[in-house]
Amino acid sequence: MRRIRNFFAGAFHDTPSTLDNVNPATGEVLGTVPDSDAVQVDQAAQAARAAFPAWSKTPIAERARLLEALATKIEQHTEELARLEVEDSGKPLTRARTLEIPRAASNFRFFATAIQNFHSETYRTEGVGLNYTLNQPRGVAGCISPWNLPLYLFTWKIAPALAAGCTVVAKPSELTPSTAERLCAFAQEVGLPPGVLNVVHGSGAKAGAALVAHRSINTISFTGGTATGAEVARVAAPLFKKVGLELGGKNPTLVFADADLNEALPACVQAAFGNQGQICLCGSRILIEESIYETFVEKFVVLARNLVVGDPLDPATQQGSLISKAHWEKVRSHVERAVAEGGKLLCGGTVPSLPERCKNGYFLSPTVIAGLDPKCRTNQEEIFGPVATLLPFRGEREVLAIANGVEYGLSASLFTTNLGRAHRLAEALECGTVWVNCWLVRDLRVPFGGVKSSGVGREGGDHALRFFTDPKTVCIRYSDEVPA
Ligand code: NAD
Repeated sequence: MRRIRNFFAGAFHDTPSTLDNVNPATGEVLGTVPDSDAVQVDQAAQAARAAFPAWSKTPIAERARLLEALATKIEQHTEELARLEVEDSGKPLTRARTLEIPRAASNFRFFATAIQNFHSETYRTEGVGLNYTLNQPRGVAGCISPWNLPLYLFTWKIAPALAAGCTVVAKPSELTPSTAERLCAFAQEVGLPPGVLNVVHGSGAKAGAALVAHRSINTISFTGGTATGAEVARVAAPLFKKVGLELGGKNPTLVFADADLNEALPACVQAAFGNQGQICLCGSRILIEESIYETFVEKFVVLARNLVVGDPLDPATQQGSLISKAHWEKVRSHVERAVAEGGKLLCGGTVPSLPERCKNGYFLSPTVIAGLDPKCRTNQEEIFGPVATLLPFRGEREVLAIANGVEYGLSASLFTTNLGRAHRLAEALECGTVWVNCWLVRDLRVPFGGVKSSGVGREGGDHALRFFTDPKTVCIRYSDEVPA
């Protein structure tokens, strides 16, 4: 049995009460997770606060060196971390090993370099003097992350915060704590000073809420559901905290008749079902131009049906389990509701047959539904599972109305060979990222975030470094007169 512990002031600590850590692919209890409350959050916040003055003054080159060392540790332990991620979340091992853990290492490497190139502004006021800005770290940053891409998203917040000179109190999802604990051990091993990185495990309602409310934590970077984001904003606002919110999505994929279907079809399948549809950027509404609707649907359903659902440890597996029994039940209830709303189930909706080891796991076959109104709840609410709806459209005006006709605005994908249309629609789509003829191509320098109910603020590159720092303006008055 694995015993996860909190990490603060450079050491691991047990808590009086714990939660179970369950492997959702097998139903087996893996061990325990601290059920932290305000007491542990306060201990971690005090450690972070004590470490802040020295860390914020640590030369950038030294901070960068430590971030590089963390990246190397992650790379050296890729296999171990990937397996921990699979046990906690049920995602396919191949995905964790080739995509998610390497990205966690890249997050540290990227911000180790980015902070060395981070620059401030200068304005010369002629005849008066010079203004420049100092980008100063804000203090103790609270980083709260979800379960879908555990170490990948955890490090996406922690790396820029540490690079910028903030100290951190972080809380991973209580469902996926294991890689966060390993990261703490790596922090010890590379010699990150005590108190610079602190991790408190536990539920959102107790540990997460205490973190958001703590007066010493003045900056909150949150990724999770929209309802939780609203609660975080409500608590943080009267305390005048700086808050970044990366929230849910109901992203459209637009497929025009002029698209190259050989490229578009597999990309649409990936966008719909990657990580069992549990990525905020998943394209769960596929909008298809009427003239190719029948052809597209037929081919898409074949591809979806052929995705291999199975034991996450099997290298052939493309679809693992959902994150938990509760989430599995929720996603299945969404499918039932889609049918009640008049949707036609073209494939999936069922629990696939599985090897003995996974017979108590929470699996669902990739599910494709057609025939629903764009305004029905299935097409409006985030499902966050392997469920995609197909909708026909006629022309750009109609597809924009459908694509933008939801409360969310995280991302959109657009498949077309018409250059003018690509630019036109990229401008008109209400979201933070538009991919043209691709999906989830990520460059860590670009701004990342949502509009509408998908969030506030941007992560990535300089945007993340600006989030964790405050610009201070220094205005120096001097005379233009050269003394005689
Ligand atoms: P969630 O909102 O339930 O939990 C996210 C994190 O917040 C967890 O660590 C949780 O313990 C914590 N939390 C819960 N209640 C809290 C509270 N009152 N105060 C402080 N913290 C609290 O989300 P989830 O189910 O873990 O993740 C799925 C959601 O995350 C989906 O909606 C998905 O779209 C979204 N997501 C968004 C992005 C993005 O970048 N926009 C990325 C990944 C996931």
